[in-house]
Amino acid sequence: MRIVLVGGGHAHLKCLARIKIENASLNHSVILISPDRYQYYSGMFSGFTEGIYSLDDIRIDLKNLAERAGITFIEEKVVNVSVYDKTLTTEDGAIVPFDVVSFDIGSNMEIPPSFAEWLMPIKPNYLFAEKIISYRKKEYPVVVGGGASGVELALAMTAWRNTNGYPQNVTLITSSTPLPSSSRKATTIIRNVAASKGLRIIEGDTVKEMHGTHITTKNQVNLPHSHVLWVTGPRASGIFHDSHLPCDENGFLLVKNTLQAKGMPYIFGAGDCITMEKHPQLPKNGVYAVRQGELLWENITRYLKKETCRTFNPQRHFLSLISTGNQEALFQYANFTFHHKIAWKLKHKIDVAFMRKHQ
Ligand SMILES: Cc1cc2nc3c(=O)[nH]c(=O)nc-3n(C[C@H](O)[C@H](O)[C@H](O)COP(=O)(O)OP(=O)(O)OC[C@H]3O[C@@H](n4cnc5c(N)ncnc54)[C@H](O)[C@@H]3O)c2cc1C
Repeated sequence: MRIVLVGGGHAHLKCLARIKIENASLNHSVILISPDRYQYYSGMFSGFTEGIYSLDDIRIDLKNLAERAGITFIEEKVVNVSVYDKTLTTEDGAIVPFDVVSFDIGSNMEIPPSFAEWLMPIKPNYLFAEKIISYRKKEYPVVVGGGASGVELALAMTAWRNTNGYPQNVTLITSSTPLPSSSRKATTIIRNVAASKGLRIIEGDTVKEMHGTHITTKNQVNLPHSHVLWVTGPRASGIFHDSHLPCDENGFLLVKNTLQAKGMPYIFGAGDCITMEKHPQLPKNGVYAVRQGELLWENITRYLKKETCRTFNPQRHFLSLISTGNQEALFQYANFTFHHKIAWKLKHKIDVAFMRKHQ
């Protein structure tokens, strides 16, 4: 049987770790396809932006990892799935047959087409490092999006500019409050941290117009920009919709609790690129991608052995550690929230351990 893993995301890294252990007893041919040799770990993007981590600290060599696990790596982007003849087509026109396919291809940014020419693309993840190195030095950095990634990146750039003698003029624009999915306490902490570190936050406002050098918001705030980091909510890759696979209304692959596509049990998926039919509101983050990855390989092999697949039951609470620059972080778990250097140390420990396991 031929199993194809599409995308080198968090969940497939977990699969690779399992394959490496089981390799001697593996009766299947396994292929990993990803458009870049490296997988960049978003948990450490803020630390990289701030200058704490090097490029090698935040990336995983997928080709090496695949070789060590005894599987084939193909550096390509999958653009189409045919369920009729069970093949994948890549951007370069290669046809890859499969018996079972699993998608862990992450998500893109929700970018308004009329602003596209002034935005700094940081997704797919392999674009991030190169783009942010030049962007953090720009004259007028502007981040749009008040979720965890927007807040982290804006504060990381603020810290980097402070250390390296650049003006403290990073602006974060958010249509809501900062961290709208978190508690009021978390939002208040972030407001105070931003004020003390020199990050300007424009809240409850949206970008109405964008030109070569300036932005005008709905509330008539006019500010200069040197391109914009647009980190609003995740957008699905078009591949599932275009290939007529089961999707939710936003184009994410619709899967059952077993991580199998609805009505197509030989198609699996995990991470940002899926919506679970029973848990449509599940946040799209690395934590759930990793958790799903822990079950994914087991279910793929169960399916091939014609055994019943196990169900993924998401945990109610997850630990969130948002880096706020200068080796401090916001800790959130259930109703417990605090901001301290200890939270950053914990984040650093978890992230470094994750990388050691997979590098
Ligand atoms: C700046 C920033 C900071 C973040 N910080 C955190 C954090 O601290 N904690 C957290 O939990 N979440 C964080 N997130 C969210 C997190 O990045 C995503 O939720 C997470 O990466 C999703 O993992 P994934 O496995 O679904 O996909 P990804 O990690 O995005 O991996 C997708 C993989 O698929 C490949 N791929 C893409 N398209 C194709 C294709 N067509 N064919 C083949 N391969 C393809 C990509 O190259 C990549 O290897 C952050 C996001 C950003 C932007």
